[in-house]
Amino acid sequence: MKHTLFLNPPSYEGFDGGAGSRYQARREIRSFWYPTWLAQPAAMVPGSRLIDAPPDGLTVEQVAPLARDCELAVLHTSTPSFPNDARFAARLKEENPRIQIGMVGAHVGVLPLQSLTGAPSVDWVALGEFDYTCAEIAAGKPLPEVQGIAYRDGEQIRMTSPRPTIENMDALPSVVEVYKRDLTIENYFIGYLQHPYVSLYTGRGCRSKCTFCLWPQTLGGHRYRVRSADSVEAEMAAAKKYFPQVREFFFDDDTFTDDLPRAEEIARRLGRLGMTWSCNAKANVPRKTLEILRANGLRLLLVGYESGNQQILNNIKKGTRIDIAREFTRNCRELGITIHGTFILGLPGETPETIRETIRFACDIEPETIQVSLAAPYPGTELYRQAQEQGWLQIQTGELVDTHGVQVAALRYPTLSSTLIFDSVEDFYRKFYFRPRKIFSLVGGMVRSPEVMKRRLREGVEFFRFLHERKKTPQPSAAAAGSPAS
Ligand code: SF4
Repeated sequence: MKHTLFLNPPSYEGFDGGAGSRYQARREIRSFWYPTWLAQPAAMVPGSRLIDAPPDGLTVEQVAPLARDCELAVLHTSTPSFPNDARFAARLKEENPRIQIGMVGAHVGVLPLQSLTGAPSVDWVALGEFDYTCAEIAAGKPLPEVQGIAYRDGEQIRMTSPRPTIENMDALPSVVEVYKRDLTIENYFIGYLQHPYVSLYTGRGCRSKCTFCLWPQTLGGHRYRVRSADSVEAEMAAAKKYFPQVREFFFDDDTFTDDLPRAEEIARRLGRLGMTWSCNAKANVPRKTLEILRANGLRLLLVGYESGNQQILNNIKKGTRIDIAREFTRNCRELGITIHGTFILGLPGETPETIRETIRFACDIEPETIQVSLAAPYPGTELYRQAQEQGWLQIQTGELVDTHGVQVAALRYPTLSSTLIFDSVEDFYRKFYFRPRKIFSLVGGMVRSPEVMKRRLREGVEFFRFLHERKKTPQPSAAAAGSPAS
């Protein structure tokens, strides 16, 4: 077995940039998802080591020398982080010219030839799911015999046959062993989750076909491939034992509620384990299911509302209805389920009026907290193809973040400039959070708990600093992009 390093390379300060995050960017507040995608193959390679540099605050100077003792390095990259990761790969080769370097992730899977051309130090890139790919290469299988890669053969780049999608999810070993071995749990923060938290997956893929959403269109697919309830229960029992300090477990499956009977079954088992947990959900879970989940330890749902305008939801094939989303949110509130609602500005069909409508919608349904993102056209998505065809791309591929890792507005429309889309994010946050009712509710939580008080104050400082720095983000030549704010 090759001595193998799995790496989320050092990046922008505070950049939630690689494996676990759906939008790779610096957040409003310190925030890091777990490198679950990378932990999975790490769990299949005995003696390997997983390094998640951004949350651990590791620099290039600290990480690069580790290459001297390694034979294989696997880097998880993304569209925004690719240029940085390619430079880091070159640095690893300087440290150890004999090391073999592979890159994994949606970006290289969609653009294998461009990626190998753009990262001359990288020897191979994985296409699609990369768990068994990494395990086989680490075990010494010759590259031409490994399915699902593009690799260098002298001056040539060759592709091997496609790797079938993984069907037996229970065959994948647990990631919590790798978390325990290699990660510092306390370094992972998500503003709306209790700290410390642990997140993992119980399945891959999403049945929905949202045009902007990267992973189901690249790595996971549109079938929800799941682990059995027995397997999930065993992993959660182990996680509880390994991490007694953890206050909340999060299922990062694209849509944990895609299979309602299974979600209910797993919930009952978590209830017996006495766990507090949260998950991603669509805004259409029936009340009966919500009641079962809540009765068995569910604390929070992360809900992608995206927009408050039905036509935009239709345009992006979200498959949800505004009236159902309202009813779902009302049910959650009545049952005591907290909601972190996520919204995206700048999706196809957006106008100044639909932005105002979405802000009104958010204030109306009142999730506990929100996240507002800019529409990000990742290569490999239908949104990216549309943007190319329609001339909506404001900037070139890869420039989804600025030089500090902050999201930029990558799209513009004849009726809406990228500048207005960008500025509307701050407007959204201000209108949502600076309302007496919201301030009262947040302050109430702080008064009730000194711990919440300490955390909210820190996050408040980070939030205002982020907004201040964001103002300095130059938006690329937006003048050509349509009507100003009204
Ligand atoms: S429901 Fe969520 S995870 Fe599924 S495709 Fe839509 S945005 Fe992606």
